[in-house]
Amino acid sequence: MPGWLRSRGFSLALAAAALIATPFSRTAALVMLALAAAHLALAGAERQSRLRSLGESARRMGEGDREARALELPGDAIGRLGTTLNRMAELSRARLADLELERDQRERVLSHVSDGVALLDSAGRVLHANQSLADIFGLALPPARGTRLQDVLRLSDIDAVIETSRREGRTIERELRFWTPAERVVRVTATPLEGAADRALLLVLQDHTEAERVDRVRRDFVANVSHELKTPLTSLRGYAETLLDGGLDDLEHREGFVRVIRDQAERLQALVEDLLALSELERPDARLRLERFDLRPLVERAMAMLRERAERKQLEFVLVPGAPVPLRADRGRIEQVVANLLDNAIKYTERGAVTVALGGDEAHAWCEVRDTGAGIPPDDLSRVFERFYRVDKSRVRDVGGTGLGLSIVKHILTLHEGDIEVESAPGRGSRFRFELPREGSGPSES
Ligand code: ADP
Repeated sequence: MPGWLRSRGFSLALAAAALIATPFSRTAALVMLALAAAHLALAGAERQSRLRSLGESARRMGEGDREARALELPGDAIGRLGTTLNRMAELSRARLADLELERDQRERVLSHVSDGVALLDSAGRVLHANQSLADIFGLALPPARGTRLQDVLRLSDIDAVIETSRREGRTIERELRFWTPAERVVRVTATPLEGAADRALLLVLQDHTEAERVDRVRRDFVANVSHELKTPLTSLRGYAETLLDGGLDDLEHREGFVRVIRDQAERLQALVEDLLALSELERPDARLRLERFDLRPLVERAMAMLRERAERKQLEFVLVPGAPVPLRADRGRIEQVVANLLDNAIKYTERGAVTVALGGDEAHAWCEVRDTGAGIPPDDLSRVFERFYRVDKSRVRDVGGTGLGLSIVKHILTLHEGDIEVESAPGRGSRFRFELPREGSGPSES
């Protein structure tokens, strides 16, 4: 039996029907009938208001209001409808939460992918794009959903890849070069997604700029090394053949030939030693053997070993007196830094002096090597620390440098978290000054 039949209005109406049979109670029966009618009217109005409230709750739920709840009491048909509505809302909230979680996880994965990724609809509008795509093209944020990718990037080469991929219905890959604004090399892959109703297309962009730079540096390096080896080897072979073709009997010149052979062999040896030192320093696991020592006696020893060469060129070779400079560093490698700077100063100075000074404060130790030699033109100053960079190639051939000395110096100081700077005036001389943390920073062995 429906609930309203069991309601108070219906009971009153039944009682009135019973009373109407007797004349005494006719008036009471009429009053009761009137009461029953009023009660039924009131119940109808209440039902309507509950139904309206139910409708309102359903509307808010439909609009995604997570706080919306339908009234479940009293537990009649309307109340049960409210319960069902609330259960449905709860279910769809749980489904929505699952979908949101899934979407967030997908976006988190995509945002951590180093490749740029964009999903496009059939009109080229962005359905999804990640931050790496924005980074590749120097944009602050990925293009918003619904924007046309070609309007954002304005790169006709990419449009062409997308267009070809759509037309041919297959994956198209191209390596493209952009200026956005710096030069970038990007591998673009466009794939039409099979079975996608909206003819979606997946665009993947891999930034190959750094890989290409490393590759170019490696190729240049191999070309440079081959070139450096070729000159002394050609010379060695030439003089050896001259000796074999009768040169051995040329009493006047044969000693000279042998000296050239020795000098070229020394040059080769220096080159190989510098290359080995450099490759050792460039290893990702390069370590420093940190120990405590005084920089002053180390510099004195390095100068003692080169004094004869400086004197042969009649150069003044001076160490400015001063206090000890204790520090913690890789002694062998700092010896190499000092030796390379002194060697250059003597090599590129024809007259005047090579002067060394050193000192320090609480945090740093420093050393500077000044000369009165050829100097370095301003345009070359920033490049002298590059591998094989020489200011004047013809002149340097005569003095026999490998072109690697300063790049070794720079590497050693960088490993120590130190630095080097150079000032120079062409024709008047140069000043190289390096600085090191006193307490030994860098990747140490212990
Ligand atoms: P190299 O073995 O040729 O000396 P480095 O790497 O030590 O190679 O130096 C690179 C270049 O920097 C040298 O070829 C030279 O042109 C220039 N240079 C270095 N030190 C000096 C200096 N003290 N005076 C003038 N030029 C210098």
